[in-house]
Amino acid sequence: MTATATRTYRPGEFHDFEASGRRFVYLVPAGAVFELDGAAEQIVERLRTKEADHDELMAELVSEGYSYTDADELLGELYHSHLIVSGETVREPLANPPADFPLQSLVMNLTNQCNLSCTYCYEFGEDKVATPEGKPKFMDLETAKASVDFLLSQSGDRRAVHITFFGGETLMNFPLLKNVVAYASEKAAEAGREIDFSLTTNATLLTPAIIEFLSENRIGVTVSMDGPPDLHNKLRVFANGRGSYDIIEPRVRALIANHRTRPITARVTLTSGVTDVVRIYRHLKQDLGFHEVGFAPVTTSPDRLYSINEPGMRGVFEHFRSLADEWLEFALRGEMHGFSNVSDTIAELIQGVNKSHPCGAGLGLMGVGPSGDIAPCHRFVDSDVHALGNIATGIDREKQSEFLTRGHVNSKYDCHTCWARPLCAGGCHHEAFVRYGDTGHANLHYCDWIREWTDTCLRIYGAVSAQNPQFLEQFAERKAL
Ligand code: SF4
Ligand code: SF4
Repeated sequence: MTATATRTYRPGEFHDFEASGRRFVYLVPAGAVFELDGAAEQIVERLRTKEADHDELMAELVSEGYSYTDADELLGELYHSHLIVSGETVREPLANPPADFPLQSLVMNLTNQCNLSCTYCYEFGEDKVATPEGKPKFMDLETAKASVDFLLSQSGDRRAVHITFFGGETLMNFPLLKNVVAYASEKAAEAGREIDFSLTTNATLLTPAIIEFLSENRIGVTVSMDGPPDLHNKLRVFANGRGSYDIIEPRVRALIANHRTRPITARVTLTSGVTDVVRIYRHLKQDLGFHEVGFAPVTTSPDRLYSINEPGMRGVFEHFRSLADEWLEFALRGEMHGFSNVSDTIAELIQGVNKSHPCGAGLGLMGVGPSGDIAPCHRFVDSDVHALGNIATGIDREKQSEFLTRGHVNSKYDCHTCWARPLCAGGCHHEAFVRYGDTGHANLHYCDWIREWTDTCLRIYGAVSAQNPQFLEQFAERKAL
């Protein structure tokens, strides 16, 4: 008797969904989407009611008119794609990335100082993890150059690397930013590499000369901005409590009008009372002209006044869904939509990502603070507890390995049976630390939300692939996937 004949089949691990009247599955072990044809759907439904062995299924298919060869091929295909499985399925653990995983992006916190006092700030607010006492407030040129050298030396064979400038408020150290762009461009060219730059700013210090420099050097810009004045000014305030909208509005308009070489993005932090996502989107996209707008609920412990409670998150979801529907309408007309929360997930689905870790922190991405301390990402910069070495002495491989082992999806028990894990992998390490005091804790407070949102994006992906598949190709090309 062959091994095939003795198989007893049951459905594999997948999440199924409908889009445009068609049935799809998101196959978890592969992180891939497949459309089910009638025969595959029938077999899956059949196995949902009761397991069946190979001969039984063959007999059923043949009695329905399949030739023996076609039926055997069909079962073979479904088995090899893991849509149906047999025997004891030992979940293949996602491998640990190699210890010398090449660096791709370095986030340089040019300063830990800021001219705003946003109530929810993860750097200065009540949930801060940074311990900047006794450390430099501004990065100096020597540390900055050493950081660039570090990036180039730690990036292995990568052809292209990336620097993101960050703060505090990044533009409070604009002279250094200019020097770094010149130095890094020269060093990358000498090494035969490509390098590109981006920065995040609160926009208060933008001037025509800075905008010209950013545009000339193709530096991508993300502006932290929370919407129209009544919403933005709630928490994005100066030290005296005055809202910052009026200061930044003309500067943002000038940035969007005059920076012509890269898309300009707005990044919105949602907080209690700042949850009208659709109105915020309309203002930032249509009134101000941002190319893309991305939203994230504030990272905070749940007892802060500005944290969003469960009904609030439900409201956020409804708004997300409304913009997601609009994203789909645009895609079916072949047009790009600026709601980046959908775009980012669609990009991951196109690439078939299957994450061992929720993000690149501590892996292909690292942060470096004004002191030269290396951190898993910008949010951990200046935190002694989370430092992974120093630019002068190199990466502390032991600490890095510990951080990555804790953060690996295999270490998060609750994620083992979750169908959303190829995309979520347990969620942000920083948020996990703020909520649970452990960077490797799964972000369990968001699971239902994450799964519902992932399902929404899968349906969009399915509908576009059914009705306008060329758009996915155009999208991939535009996003350089
Ligand atoms: S954190 Fe929750 S949603 Fe994310 S993979 Fe784990 S169980 Fe799934
Ligand atoms: S740990 Fe969180 S904040 Fe840092 S890169 Fe990952 S997702 Fe972003």
